[in-house]
Amino acid sequence: MLKENLAHVEERITEACLRAGRKREDVTLVAVSKTKPVEMLREAYGLGIRVFGENKVQEIRDKYDSMPSDVRWHMIGHLQTNKVKYIIDKVELIHSVDSLKLAEVIEKEAAKHNRKADILLEVNVAEETSKFGLKTVEVLPVYEKIAQFPHINVRGLMTIAPFVENPEENRSVFADLRKLSVDITEKNIDNVNVSILSMGMTNDYEVAIEEGATMVRVGTGIFGARDYSVH
Ligand SMILES: *Cc1c(COP(=O)(O)O)cnc(C)c1O
Repeated sequence: MLKENLAHVEERITEACLRAGRKREDVTLVAVSKTKPVEMLREAYGLGIRVFGENKVQEIRDKYDSMPSDVRWHMIGHLQTNKVKYIIDKVELIHSVDSLKLAEVIEKEAAKHNRKADILLEVNVAEETSKFGLKTVEVLPVYEKIAQFPHINVRGLMTIAPFVENPEENRSVFADLRKLSVDITEKNIDNVNVSILSMGMTNDYEVAIEEGATMVRVGTGIFGARDYSVH
């Protein structure tokens, strides 16, 4: 099943890239493996997946040692400041930085490990009260500040679009995030460069790619529905 799912997702990514006149290699597929057992992650690894997205610190710690060392772990869920220390040396990218305070803690922990942490700023484009993330108007000032931190590379922006029946309804959300990235880049601020746009999930990643996503986070489409009752 996983093999067929992955082939299907891969095909749809390729087609979305074609429609948008973009190169397939400009879009990174993050396989969102949260709640899924390590056996499934290993199977995905065997099929060529290297980038895995998880949304819980504990789950990354649990799975980390059970997977090959060339796996690139992405933290995509809300991150509490007191838990940064557990994953700072394990993740390639933190997608979900939503406050200056969190960035300050990441800076401190990255410094301890003498490394530079790659992060994205999470933007609550649709301003849903149920979601984390900076408001669009807050992004530039926070971006500029964090860009000066010596142990952080701000690589771009991430958003979680609203849950909708028809993915077309999220097109404007993705277009808005892309516009924000262009606006920030055009200001030509030192150290400020927005190259990654993490947007699009199982329900809407094709629309996100058409609107400029460079990373899509696909869980259900690869691993099947999640069963939260067992957790
Ligand atoms: C769970 C999750 C995803 C994947 O969602 P699917 O609809 O299963 O593809 C993507 N991004 C974030 C931040 C998530 O928490």
